[in-house]
Amino acid sequence: MREHFKSDSAFLNWLRGGFRRIWNKSPAKIEYKKTKIYKKINPTSGKLAQFIDCELCGEPCRANVVQVDHVEPCGSLTMHNWTEFLYKLLLMNGEQLQCACKPCHKIKSFAEMYDISFEEAKIKKQVISWVSKASTARQACKDHGITYKNLKQARADLLDYYREKGDIK
Ligand SMILES: [Zn+2]
Repeated sequence: MREHFKSDSAFLNWLRGGFRRIWNKSPAKIEYKKTKIYKKINPTSGKLAQFIDCELCGEPCRANVVQVDHVEPCGSLTMHNWTEFLYKLLLMNGEQLQCACKPCHKIKSFAEMYDISFEEAKIKKQVISWVSKASTARQACKDHGITYKNLKQARADLLDYYREKGDIK
């Protein structure tokens, strides 16, 4: 089997894609999402629509864009942990799920990747997005009482601001 793939990572990518398809059709995932759906008038269209509240920020979110997330991350798939990974993915050990809006899901993945808290990840992602453009970086510096010099400095100064406040490490 392994000889059909150029590298371990090509093989793992193929495997990950297959696992994702299994997960997307998992009855546990589908059923969990169903239990969280409620109907209300969509403020943008004025029509009745299905919503789910994000379990991380509490914001109501269209049911079709909500992501079902593992409370405990499955970790990364390697050549040596398929069974463990698949057990966690398919909730075989009673792992829990939660519904998350897209922004929260991205923050959670970022937090898992860098092994930091959700709140810390939220601030760091926000700072990264501010300093992606000079105009937003300038505005963010102004809002935080920081003199803008350049993007790199703005990033460091904004992170220092939250470090001094004790919000991030
Ligand atoms: Zn959210």
